[in-house]
Amino acid sequence: MRIDVSDIKEETGLHKRIDLSVSLQPIEFGGQEARFDRPFTGTAEIWNLGDRLLVQAALTGEAELSCGRCLGRYREPVEVSFDEEFVEGEPGEGEPAVQEDEDSGRTVSFYTGDEIDLTDPLRDNILLALPMKPLCSEDCQGLCPNCGADLNEGPCGCGRSDERVDPRLAVLKDLLRKPDSQS
Ligand SMILES: [Zn+2]
Ligand SMILES: [Zn+2]
Repeated sequence: MRIDVSDIKEETGLHKRIDLSVSLQPIEFGGQEARFDRPFTGTAEIWNLGDRLLVQAALTGEAELSCGRCLGRYREPVEVSFDEEFVEGEPGEGEPAVQEDEDSGRTVSFYTGDEIDLTDPLRDNILLALPMKPLCSEDCQGLCPNCGADLNEGPCGCGRSDERVDPRLAVLKDLLRKPDSQS
């Protein structure tokens, strides 16, 4: 989302607050695709600090993810708030496009012209906010390890859905199954 800053960029101390609505492309996330049907909405405050602009943004939305247990798609509410600095110009040769302000510890991006773009910072912060192990619900029953049926929809017919194989138990089972060759 591009924001016009022509009204505050010329004078130190100027400030404005704007409403945001940002549509995002799907993001590759932990081997799956996070999708965003609806735009993220929220507000941003932008200050002219003299040699840079400071943006403080807070947005909410939701990501469509695959549950790690049942593989079903579900919506995960996502809330992000972040600070980002924008310096007019381009990064020096060989310098990264996104840097860190050593004094404030904030992320610094560059902009040219009269617009800053919050899409990349928002996307990066959403990635940080997504759960490492997405679950459609805390007590998702997952899939039957035997027939693959979704156990959230009820018992599966194959009758072997409780044969959850714990890898540690599997080793034990194997040991027990070994023929008793000593006798
Ligand atoms: Zn699930
Ligand atoms: Zn089954």
